[in-house]
Amino acid sequence: MLAVEGLVKRFGGFLAVNQVSFEVRAGEILGLIGPNGSGKSTTFNLIAGNLRPNSGSIRFNGKEIGGQSAHTICRQGIGRTFQIPRPFRRLSVIENVALAAYYGEAGRISRGQAQRRAAEVLDMVDLAVDPTASTAGLGAAALKKLELARALATGPKLLLADESLGGLDPAEMERAAHLLGDIRGRLGITIVWVEHIMGVLMRVVDRVIVLDHGEKIFEGRPAQAAADPRVIEVYLGKAQA
Ligand code: ADP
Ligand code: MG
Repeated sequence: MLAVEGLVKRFGGFLAVNQVSFEVRAGEILGLIGPNGSGKSTTFNLIAGNLRPNSGSIRFNGKEIGGQSAHTICRQGIGRTFQIPRPFRRLSVIENVALAAYYGEAGRISRGQAQRRAAEVLDMVDLAVDPTASTAGLGAAALKKLELARALATGPKLLLADESLGGLDPAEMERAAHLLGDIRGRLGITIVWVEHIMGVLMRVVDRVIVLDHGEKIFEGRPAQAAADPRVIEVYLGKAQA
C-alpha cells in the first residue's frame, strides 16, 4: 500500500531521517518505534505532506506522493494524528470532527453528512464527553481520542497514528491499543503506529520497524525486535542513561 524508499530529511546540517526505506502492506498494523528524536514524527510529516523530503520516494498504491501538499495526500486516503493534539479551541468537540470530515472530502459533503460521520467516529473512539462542549476541559486521554476521531473522519485507507498512548495511564493505554486493533478490524484501515516506548504496542502490531538517529536499525516481528542486540542497546542504553 505504501512504499518508502531512501527517504532523507535534513534540518540545516542535521540529518533527521537518513535513507529510510520500508513498505506497509494493506491490512497490517506496522509499529514504528525508536527513542525520542529518532525521526518518527518527521517520517510521518514527510508521508503526510507536512514536510517535503530532501530526497527519496514515497509511493501510495503505486503513485508517487512525495512532496505533495498535505490536503492532496489526505484526500487520497492517508489520515494522520499529531503527537501534540491542537484542536480548534473555539469549536465544540463534534464541530472539530465534522470539520475534519469536510476537509477529507474537500467540502463536497453536506453539513448533515459531516455531522453524522463525526457522530459515528466519536462513538467509535468511545469519547464519552458532551459532543457540543468545548475542547477546553478535555484531559490527555480525551484529547488523544479526539485526535484519532479527527483523523478517522477524513476517511483514511491508511492511518498514521503518532504516539496515541502519550500521557495515558496503563488502563487507558490498554483501551487505546485495543481501539487501534478495532479500527483495523472493523473499518479495514491499515495502520502505521508510532510510539517511543515498546510496551503494549508490541502485542498489537504485526511487524515493527525501529529507528535510531534517523536510521532504520531493525525490521521484523515484535518478538524478534525484543531479542535484537541493536534494539536492546538503543532501549537499555536510554533506560540506563
Ligand atoms: P521523534 O518523533 O522520533 O521523537 P522527530 O521526528 O520529532 O523525533 O525529530 C527528529 C529530530 O529532528 C529531533 O532531533 C528533532 O529535534 C529534529 N527536528 C524535528 N523537526 C524539526 C524542525 N522542524 N526543525 C528542526 N529540527 C527538527
Ligand atoms: Mg515524535
